[in-house]
Amino acid sequence: MTAPRIEIDLSKIRQNTRVLVDQLACYGISVAAVTKAVCGDPAVAKAMLEGGASVLADARIVNVVRMRDAGIMCPIVMIRSPMLSELGQVVQNCGTSYNTEIDVIAGLSAISHRGGKAHNVILMVEMGDMRDGIMPDDLGRISSLVAGMPGVALKGIGANFACLGNVSPDAEAMAFFSQLAAEIESVCSPGLETVSGGSSASLPWALGAGAKGRINELRLGEAILLGKEPVSGEPIEGLQTDAFTLVVEVIETKSKANPVPLRLVDPTQATLRVVQGSLCKKRVVIALGMQDTDVCGLTFPPEVSYIGATSDHTVLEDTEGALRVGDEIRCQMTYGALMRAMNARDVETVHLSGGDMKSVVLEKPIRPSMALVHGL
Ligand SMILES: *Cc1c(COP(=O)(O)O)cnc(C)c1O
Repeated sequence: MTAPRIEIDLSKIRQNTRVLVDQLACYGISVAAVTKAVCGDPAVAKAMLEGGASVLADARIVNVVRMRDAGIMCPIVMIRSPMLSELGQVVQNCGTSYNTEIDVIAGLSAISHRGGKAHNVILMVEMGDMRDGIMPDDLGRISSLVAGMPGVALKGIGANFACLGNVSPDAEAMAFFSQLAAEIESVCSPGLETVSGGSSASLPWALGAGAKGRINELRLGEAILLGKEPVSGEPIEGLQTDAFTLVVEVIETKSKANPVPLRLVDPTQATLRVVQGSLCKKRVVIALGMQDTDVCGLTFPPEVSYIGATSDHTVLEDTEGALRVGDEIRCQMTYGALMRAMNARDVETVHLSGGDMKSVVLEKPIRPSMALVHGL
């Protein structure tokens, strides 16, 4: 099989979605499954839907179009404020989008009104993450404007937490957000359908004790895909953390001794590690580099430790000295490493359904002509 490749165990994604959907259902909260980290991979999206996600959500229209082209017909929500240059595609492919700018909503209104269908708007509210969002003081005014526009319906409000700032929401922030929902509701009948209380970072609040107020949706990516809570980085009980594995191939193994005396120009720790390591250690080079992923976000097997990476090579130390050229090494990825690897042209995607190695679908998302199908 080719390397580097990401093996995706779809049954684990299905299972993680199911666990979260069932747990949150007890609190009246539904799950919008976020597909952006896998570039809208249709097989992953389908596993999320099979696991009980009520809608899909993505931040990029190319990913949404990819899912539509693969025949996914469920509601897909655009969770990044659309660019003015992509409004037509957003109206065509998404029934709902998150918005923070009235000019964008006016554009959506004009296009959807012309096309004779209604586009749903969720207003993203600034709740202290200081990324995107309408200031709470402006929310009433903007809601009234949206309620008066043809072709768009004000469907709800949404909050972002821990995206830019790494701070989890507390009960106080959530109560304030619920209160905003109640205030907006007086502006727009027949009421707010969706009050979206954030991402995986909101799970500790949602699954903890305390009233959930008006919040009835979370948008979950990392928790479903990697089974982890993003702020603490801790695994979430009951979830699988190894649905994704990056498999890389060894292209050099040598005991390296530095052939020329080295002068330390930049005595940073990284340089020191490289120099010290070059005295006499079992070095392994793998065919993977910074072009392919966030190499620092990889977890290697215990007998292998990370030394450094360039654009196309990653250098490891092999303490047992057992690795040979052609051997494969299996790594786990952080969300950031996963996101970049899924986007990398030279990293293949392999779907394992139900953990069955025989039913493997090899897919090349960026270059569809190279897609290979094995065993199906
Ligand atoms: C990425 C994203 C999410 C999902 O975040 P996770 O931490 O992966 O759960 C939710 N909402 C918005 C607006 C996003 O951009």
